[in-house]
Amino acid sequence: MADGVARWGRRAVLRRAALLGGGTALGVAATTQTAWIADRRLPLGGGPASATLGSRHQQVGGGVEVVWGVRTGAPLVALTFDDGPQPQWTPMVLDTLAEHRVPATFFLVGERARRHAALVRDRLAGHEVGNHSWAHHDLARMDARTAYDDLRRSHEAITAATGVAPRLLRPPWGHLGGAVLHAAARLDYRLVLWTLQMVEGEYPHDPAGHARRIVADVRPGTILLGHDVGPERRLVALRGLPDMISGLRARGYTFVTVSELLRRAAVPGAAR
Ligand SMILES: [Zn+2]
Repeated sequence: MADGVARWGRRAVLRRAALLGGGTALGVAATTQTAWIADRRLPLGGGPASATLGSRHQQVGGGVEVVWGVRTGAPLVALTFDDGPQPQWTPMVLDTLAEHRVPATFFLVGERARRHAALVRDRLAGHEVGNHSWAHHDLARMDARTAYDDLRRSHEAITAATGVAPRLLRPPWGHLGGAVLHAAARLDYRLVLWTLQMVEGEYPHDPAGHARRIVADVRPGTILLGHDVGPERRLVALRGLPDMISGLRARGYTFVTVSELLRRAAVPGAAR
């Protein structure tokens, strides 16, 4: 505690020094609060943390919704796969889902969708696609203009590859800055994160064990994050997918796309 106070004190001194040293840039009206921001090298407005762009009227739409999951009593679960499409595993995942008649939501990387369009063309009936950025760079480090350009480019590539314009956005690693919110609002996206994720690293070479863990952890309204691209260890989740599907169905769960999950939860009188 005492050490914490001492450190806090040192920070306060640094803050005052930054305020004095950066007086020109910060302006005479700079406060302790703005100096705190300067200490961390975040630009004051227009940078990745800011959800504003310039000082004119903002053409940003009405707002943006951020969703982690859905509060419902209905046994619904949305299976999602990020980072594809890639030739290595995406076809296998699509085959498994088709065999078990399970809909899923694929958050595609725009540049990969353009390069591997043939993998997903005509194979996404019943599934949903979302935008997962152009090249899986960190959107939380981009300013609003750059984040918008990245997502717009990806949006167009995904639309061209799949024939469907995505309405959902999942930023890589779930990294959110104000600029991402701003770009998402401009593109009229819903931001979709997740409630539960695959934990392949905890079950090396044990697809059945991993599947049992996920089946036990799902709750009504869960959005479940998986990947159809990545390091070899992720195969644990993909190889266990049939077990996961049958296990969740045995618990009474129905698989839906993310948009379907949001729609069902929004129905007045639906079980909550
Ligand atoms: Zn990702």
